[in-house]
Amino acid sequence: MKCPYCGSVDSKVLDSRHADDRIKRRRECEDCGRRFTTFEAVEHSPLVVVKKDRSREIFDREKILSSMLKACGKRPISYAVLEQAAADIENALVSDLDKEVSTSRIGEYVMDKLREIDDVAYVRYASVYRQFKDTESFMEELKNILNKRGYSVEDPDQRR
Ligand SMILES: [Zn+2]
Repeated sequence: MKCPYCGSVDSKVLDSRHADDRIKRRRECEDCGRRFTTFEAVEHSPLVVVKKDRSREIFDREKILSSMLKACGKRPISYAVLEQAAADIENALVSDLDKEVSTSRIGEYVMDKLREIDDVAYVRYASVYRQFKDTESFMEELKNILNKRGYSVEDPDQRR
């Protein structure tokens, strides 16, 4: 937003409010200190996902949903529950207010949700998502989950 008085592009926003389908902003020029009002289009900036190879794509809730469906295969979990979970995740991502989000961040959100919904689905998802290098690290994670849930897991090293 250019200052109408001096042409500087540095201004700070003093006040923003919706005016019809636009946003009315009261701004103060950082250079000359004068104030002016702008009407700006409401931004519908899409959430951008940064993938492991640093390429970008537009966030797609369906992708989250289908990855959860896969993890929940043959588990007694209703589609509505997963739809709600996907919507919750999207809302959480949007309210983070970052325009870009990494796939690993999304993965963490999905894992948190699945952990609440179903242990088996969570473990399945985590095993794919975390790409455990070996059975040992997978078992370690599994043990952590079960311990947190209060199951006792027999540890061969600590058997008396
Ligand atoms: Zn100015």
